[in-house]
Amino acid sequence: MTESMVSRYEKLVHAGPPGDVPVLFDTACVLGGSIAGLMAARVLSDRARRVVVIEPDDTSAETGSRPGVPQDQQVHTLLPVGQRWLERWVPGTTRQAQDRGASLVADQGTTVINGVPQAPDGEGHHLLAVGRPLLEALLRNRITSLPNVSVLRGHATGLQYRDDAVSGVRYDAGAGGGQGGRSEGVLDADFVVDAMGRSSRLSNWLKGSGYDQPRIERLEAPVNYATARFARPAKVADLETPGALALFTPEYPSSGVSVAAVQPIEGRQWIVMLMGYGDSRPGRTIGEFREICTKLPPVFATATAGAVIGDVMTYHQAESRRRDFTGAVRFPARLVSVGDAVASFNPIYGQGLSSAALHASCLASYLADGPDLGTAAREFFRLQQVVVDAAWAVSAGGDAARLDALHGTEVPDDVRQQRWAMEQIAAATLVDGDVTRAFNSVSYMLRHPATLADPALLAKAVAANGTAAPVAG
Ligand SMILES: Cc1cc2nc3c(=O)[nH]c(=O)nc-3n(C[C@H](O)[C@H](O)[C@H](O)COP(=O)(O)OP(=O)(O)OC[C@H]3O[C@@H](n4cnc5c(N)ncnc54)[C@H](O)[C@@H]3O)c2cc1C
Repeated sequence: MTESMVSRYEKLVHAGPPGDVPVLFDTACVLGGSIAGLMAARVLSDRARRVVVIEPDDTSAETGSRPGVPQDQQVHTLLPVGQRWLERWVPGTTRQAQDRGASLVADQGTTVINGVPQAPDGEGHHLLAVGRPLLEALLRNRITSLPNVSVLRGHATGLQYRDDAVSGVRYDAGAGGGQGGRSEGVLDADFVVDAMGRSSRLSNWLKGSGYDQPRIERLEAPVNYATARFARPAKVADLETPGALALFTPEYPSSGVSVAAVQPIEGRQWIVMLMGYGDSRPGRTIGEFREICTKLPPVFATATAGAVIGDVMTYHQAESRRRDFTGAVRFPARLVSVGDAVASFNPIYGQGLSSAALHASCLASYLADGPDLGTAAREFFRLQQVVVDAAWAVSAGGDAARLDALHGTEVPDDVRQQRWAMEQIAAATLVDGDVTRAFNSVSYMLRHPATLADPALLAKAVAANGTAAPVAG
């Protein structure tokens, strides 16, 4: 096990606000005012005289969709690591979400694999069931009400440089500002964060200015989401099962559904998601949606029995991708990138929001270590790579195994053994609470995946599986 990686990761998981620290920047500018951008803005608010978030969308509404985040109507699970980050950096967010009708759901018994619930891990984890727009609005309200944080409505269109360091951001307030006509400007900034999401143009800007582009890695992961909301007459406290995550292995007969989730969110609503891989597009009409839900754990039929609210919202994503900034040799100082702009994974693992939180921790840690701001932020990118690698190992590991099985690809012995070990551990979560605890601490991003490569854990899992009744599939 790579101990240093594990302990570096855990320090990031536990990072909190720095207290009274020196201001390093006059103006820090964050490009993109979604979750990753807001979290970075919170970190920078301790380090800059002012923080300006440039965001093209009108973000005044607390619910509903906005064009810059096309996935925002889909189920979003906030893993415990992300929720803990929020409570450290923006304390009281969970309570605020609950006051607005979101629910804090105990995770025990909610994860069901091929119809069998996981053995309880005894940790008492809770998951915040909240619509993504509301979560983002709560964060935005809190962070932009800090005295030194403001939002400039516009599209960032490029960067300016002085002495091989970023010195300003070009923006167009007309394009997103709804003013009619164009209104271009430059914001002087002595630190810039790219948080423009999966389709960030930063690589093109860098190339256009003679800098190295980050290397991009892609992994085929064709996922089809269908999400719908339904009226929820009952209070969460009165529900026997207030949420579920149903997972199916490829061999299990499941109407084409690989993963299904149901959560009691604000507005007395259930949000229900069905996901299929490749050609499988389950639940595109309400009729089909409800029909499939009758074959899932009972809470799905309960949730979909009420009046449907709006349409079924579908979303297709073809691949996971990550950008490696650590290999860029010629790179400007005072520039970093966070969130989906760096890595966006198969969303079914629920890692995006929590990765953004850990990237913000990387930024806090980098700034705390007294960095040389006259050179590229390599130490930041190296730290961030620990987080990206960890998340990628979990999601890409599963996707690569699925693809190899689909195409009948020969895999090297060591990879085959690793996959076998992971299958043993996953199967043992149905019968052994200790194994569930180790497994969930990684799937909740609280611990590094290398912690699962513990021979004692594998031995325990194999022994537990040997004595357990076999689970179909
Ligand atoms: C179907 C689906 C389901 C998901 N489910 C989960 C889940 O269950 N749990 C989870 O943790 N994550 C989930 N995710 C991932 C999650 O949505 C993202 O990780 C999360 O939104 C953080 O992204 P971000 O802030 O980096 O970027 P985004 O949310 O994509 O935001 C990018 C921002 O940049 C702005 N922008 C774009 N261009 C410019 C520009 N030129 N100038 C200024 N601003 C600009 C946009 O308007 C937007 O506000 C899911 C993703 C998908 C696709």
